[in-house]
Amino acid sequence: MIGGGVSGLATAFRAREAAAALGHTLAVTVLEAASRPGGKMRTDLADGLVIEEGPNGFLDSKPDPLLLTQAIGLESRLLRSSDAARKRFVCRDGRLVRLPETPGAFLRSPLLSGRGKVRLLGEPFAPPAPPGEETLSEFAERRLGAEARDYLIDPMVSGIYAGDPARLSVAAAFPRVVELEREHGGLFRGMVAVMRQRRRERRQGPKSYAGPGGTLQSYRGGVATLPAALAASIGGPRAGGGDGLVLSTAATGIRRTATGWEVMAETDGAARTFPADAVVLSCPAYDAARLLRIAAPGAVEPLGGIPYAPVAVVATAFARDEVARPLDGFGFLIPGTERRPILGTLWDSSVFEDRAPPGMVLLRSMAGGARRPDVAEMPDSDLVAIVRAQLADLMGIRAAPRLVRVYRWDRGIPQYDLGHLGRVAAAEAALAREPGLFLCHNAYRGIALADCCREAAATGRNVASFLFAQTQEAHP
Ligand SMILES: Cc1cc2nc3c(=O)[nH]c(=O)nc-3n(C[C@H](O)[C@H](O)[C@H](O)COP(=O)(O)OP(=O)(O)OC[C@H]3O[C@@H](n4cnc5c(N)ncnc54)[C@H](O)[C@@H]3O)c2cc1C
Repeated sequence: MIGGGVSGLATAFRAREAAAALGHTLAVTVLEAASRPGGKMRTDLADGLVIEEGPNGFLDSKPDPLLLTQAIGLESRLLRSSDAARKRFVCRDGRLVRLPETPGAFLRSPLLSGRGKVRLLGEPFAPPAPPGEETLSEFAERRLGAEARDYLIDPMVSGIYAGDPARLSVAAAFPRVVELEREHGGLFRGMVAVMRQRRRERRQGPKSYAGPGGTLQSYRGGVATLPAALAASIGGPRAGGGDGLVLSTAATGIRRTATGWEVMAETDGAARTFPADAVVLSCPAYDAARLLRIAAPGAVEPLGGIPYAPVAVVATAFARDEVARPLDGFGFLIPGTERRPILGTLWDSSVFEDRAPPGMVLLRSMAGGARRPDVAEMPDSDLVAIVRAQLADLMGIRAAPRLVRVYRWDRGIPQYDLGHLGRVAAAEAALAREPGLFLCHNAYRGIALADCCREAAATGRNVASFLFAQTQEAHP
């Protein structure tokens, strides 16, 4: 594995498991450039606060993260978000407006004008999909109208991709939505069909996970709990063969040998090589592009063409009585049309019970993204001043924060822009010509943690069956 983020660590864990199921012991080496495992899953513990530097949890609407949590023995550390976290706010005309959750609340909500609501309710009569790839913005306007695009879809996209709806490919970024339209002729009809299906499943037996929608989950002590447990299971050189997890070691290239593959790497400037029968590139797409120059030149251009958006996370902590506004929800997101310099703020201490000590609150504001990369690149002092001004304006917080931390992700979130599916298909076709090379990272088939867990399980199985097939050929 090249890259010890959750994709690489979970692939290593799942590949070993799949090999064991086939009666084999798999020797695994995970090379990680940084001095600690986890990639973007990092938790900073400071002054009794549990501060997430990147993701704050996963939705249990897809079963994969819970299955991994179970398999690694972390169930007792799971932490469900509070019920209040279902309440989400969107900024409209400088005010935080609650996102309506029921049809009645939608009709009363000031989030959309009367005209916007009528247009949204006309969704079943929207024109069919035009030929070719649509951007998310085009899709949302065609089906839901411009106002719903701006105040419902745009902020959701900021929250997930920090992306630009005018550039994201709807088929790549939200494949399920396109499927709903294709299968049911519209989103409302599709959602009704999904709800009926869920009711049927519920009647047929107990649910193993929360189903579509889902609940946000994390771990006591923060999301870094998961990669730490995966890293411990992989261990060092003697744990099941291979070199285990090798930190502070960056792969620099991959080449074919007479018997398989060789990964060239560097630890503290010293060159090393790691022989391998199979190599999983679980590093970001731009790193994979660089590493594959010799081994799979056809993958270089498509992988290098996947853009990334920078994100800065500014954590601020206040004494509870310094925040007059009730923090009764998940936080707020800001649509692009509001023209504000941040993407939104999550009220982390309201979402998960252990994120701040009694009497304190923890907020995390996000800035940058595909539309305002310049803000993510500002010096800390400017960034913090911008965040404080927004918190004062939108939440009435005038006190100086008791703690401020800035975390930067220069190439934080892959953007599934128009052409993404073609780029991924081209890269995978190039790799298919080089048996033993695999891709697994959030740049390809889903950017969220749940997607990483799903892809890692599939890649783990593919690696194990590839190696097992090889072994059978070598020792019939
Ligand atoms: C600010 C932010 C907030 C987010 N919030 C959420 C959220 O709330 N919920 C959610 O589901 N998802 C969220 N995400 C997305 C989530 O973080 C990712 O899905 C996930 O962490 C990606 O894991 P990964 O292993 O695929 O990649 P990464 O975490 O990027 O790991 C790749 C690893 O490869 C290593 N590497 C790179 N090059 C080399 C090399 N040459 N040799 C060795 N190692 C190398 C890197 O050091 C890194 O550790 C968020 C992301 C960001 C940035």
